[in-house]
Amino acid sequence: EAKTAGKRQWRRYHPALQSGMVERHALQESLDRAEIESFKVVYQAIVELGSGRVAGFEALLRWPHSTRGMVMPEQFIPLAEESGQIVPLGSWVLVQASKEAVAWHAMLTERNPGPPGVALGAKLPYVSVNVSPRQFRDRSFFEVMQWSLDRSGIDPSSLVLELTEGLLLRRDDRVLKEMRALTELGIRIAIDDFGTGYSSLSYLREFPISILKIDKSFIDELGHSPQQYALVEGITHLADTLGMKVIAEGVENTTQRDLLISMGCPLGQGFLFSRPLDSESAQSLLLAESSG
Ligand code: C2E
Ligand code: CA
Ligand code: CA
Ligand code: CA
Repeated sequence: EAKTAGKRQWRRYHPALQSGMVERHALQESLDRAEIESFKVVYQAIVELGSGRVAGFEALLRWPHSTRGMVMPEQFIPLAEESGQIVPLGSWVLVQASKEAVAWHAMLTERNPGPPGVALGAKLPYVSVNVSPRQFRDRSFFEVMQWSLDRSGIDPSSLVLELTEGLLLRRDDRVLKEMRALTELGIRIAIDDFGTGYSSLSYLREFPISILKIDKSFIDELGHSPQQYALVEGITHLADTLGMKVIAEGVENTTQRDLLISMGCPLGQGFLFSRPLDSESAQSLLLAESSG
């Protein structure tokens, strides 16, 4: 007790330690010591709104911590961005997620053996991986991508990279060149949290983008706000015109789903369909779907 009282005293005289900075600092120290293998990747289904079928999964990082319980990405990704740890961590997620997709494909084609190269029924699910701006701008990113493709054996057309608008904020020829090189390999690019950035829409013409993920904040009020409805419908039509696919993020109820279907939005993701699942549960979901 005396010890905590002393600590409190000490904090009072150290302005930097008064706020959440103490906690931030402790978490950063813990992050510095963490083994990369102590992280975990979970998978959230992206579904075809009309049929309810799984089109792919988004890979999401988790940090199961010995004393803090499950640490969520919003707590540690900003720290890892700042320290640069996001670069190796991001490479690790890429390889894990790609290997996972290879496993799904093996599992599904084994269950449904057909003519070589032809999957019976629906298309094989893709995997979508978040790439932070710092990771993308890292000099070695393209090499890491090639290495990750080799190492996992994933078909590049089964891989989607989720980038944020921030990366496209200013005209950067290197970013553009790299995005083109990636799409030439067959990898697709999605814009994450679409509509929340401050960038102009002109980048949609310049960059090779296949998918727009409409941020959850637009979906939340879909059933109650005609303005939100009009916005989401507008984005859906815009994407259609530009030959891009739209994914509605954070779909939580059937009202939202039905409105999305009525405006022609093809894909959705959210707790209504599935929470992020560990590797085994994601496989079970695919198996259950393929058998019935
Ligand atoms: P995000 O990329 O926008 O991912 C979607 C987040 O929304 C996930 O949170 C997901 O669990 C949550 N979500 C999905 N559906 C619903 C819903 O219906 N309702 C609600 N309330 N939430 C929903 P999560 O896993 O906590 O990830 C938070 C953010 O952390 C991600 O946002 C992404 O920006 C970042 N992140 C996660 N994994 C990685 C990673 O491997 N690399 C990088 N750079 N960032 C990551
Ligand atoms: Ca994302
Ligand atoms: Ca998002
Ligand atoms: Ca988000």
